[in-house]
Amino acid sequence: MAVISVTEAVTTILNEILVLGTERVAITAALGRVLAEDISAPFNIPPLDNSAMDGYAVRFQDLQGASAQHPARLKILGDIPAGYSASKPMSAGETYRIMTGAPVPAGADTVVMQEDTQAHDQVVEIFQECPRGSHIRRAGEDLSSGDSVVTGGTLLGPAHIGVLASIKKSQVTVYQRPRVAIISTGDELVDVDEELFAGKIVSSNSYSLQALVLDSGAIPMSLGIARDTREALREKFAAALHADMIISSGGVSVGDYDFVKDVMQDLGAEMKFWKVAMRPGNPLAFGVINGKPAFGLPGNPVSVMVSFEQFVRPSIRKMSGHQKLFRPVIEATAQENVETRQGRQYFIRCMVRKTAAGYVATTTGEQGSGMLMSMAKATGLMMVPADREGVKAGDKVTVQILDRDFGYSETLYY
Ligand code: AMP
Ligand code: MG
Repeated sequence: MAVISVTEAVTTILNEILVLGTERVAITAALGRVLAEDISAPFNIPPLDNSAMDGYAVRFQDLQGASAQHPARLKILGDIPAGYSASKPMSAGETYRIMTGAPVPAGADTVVMQEDTQAHDQVVEIFQECPRGSHIRRAGEDLSSGDSVVTGGTLLGPAHIGVLASIKKSQVTVYQRPRVAIISTGDELVDVDEELFAGKIVSSNSYSLQALVLDSGAIPMSLGIARDTREALREKFAAALHADMIISSGGVSVGDYDFVKDVMQDLGAEMKFWKVAMRPGNPLAFGVINGKPAFGLPGNPVSVMVSFEQFVRPSIRKMSGHQKLFRPVIEATAQENVETRQGRQYFIRCMVRKTAAGYVATTTGEQGSGMLMSMAKATGLMMVPADREGVKAGDKVTVQILDRDFGYSETLYY
């Protein structure tokens, strides 16, 4: 069986992954989705010149020479609250009291802040000149009709949703979220609420995989546990073909009951089954069945998660229309010696901390591929390349960040 590098496996897999189709969704459901259309502004934002202050709409000329001793005195024609327009234009010597956001009346070219004025009945006194156009937000200053608002491929955040609403786009076209079928395999497995007889363990992979799929922005469809028979596996895989992608865990090694690759082949997959030169991880079955990518991930609880991160997450992101497929990586200084052997890429579970001298990484301790706690403690994976033998305390290492809190702080920073 061919042994290939992690890079080779990722590249080969991504070559087979196609971007899914699109769907229309309400903007309230579009957060975190990837936009699949180019959107331009159908009208100006703001639509009209409007006041940036509570104050008085004036003619710039009327304030010439105004001072504390000789205030300009203007006749108040009325109020313009936000949401209403002046009933008639104003002429020389006239003003409107105007509220923030209200349209500037015809005849006015400047707004004076309320704080710089004093009103007496129907007359307001203004105590200083002010530059022409002051405190007016111009029509179209945020967006002009025809301007590009958001382009296809953009990951939609809260501000995009707000801007889309402002141009009356209540629905947008986004890429579909992949539906991912999850199959756990093994006679030793029981579900979380079932009784644990001797020799049985809970299928934790069913749950870590559902969480990983959700965390990647896709929709998990758990198909439960398949027993270690060809028939049971075939049944689950056949049902899984309703999804956009299939993931199984376990049953891909060379044990007597490891039938996953045979079953994928029986169902017509053009199979790629490799030993990937990585640790943890190692066996990986990948094939495309009826156009659906199918991953036979290893069974060990750490291996399955690390393999998911390297192979499945980028695939889900590609299917979902993302341009950026890969997790962030940082440079860190190793805090201790780490033993690795040449010839495989290692993913050492570690905890990353930011210090004044940059990031530092400490391993989570024992690295057994069945020790899920090493994954639970980890905020990153120290990636030791295959051509490197071991890491010494003080060495620079590259760390793939897993932390969902990455970049957040416990301390206030301003
Ligand atoms: P396998 O590749 O099927 O031989 O599985 C390798 C190891 O992972 C064995 O110790 C299994 O018991 C364990 N394992 C397989 N599937 C699961 C699962 N769904 N949840 C937890 N452990 C699993
Ligand atoms: Mg098994």
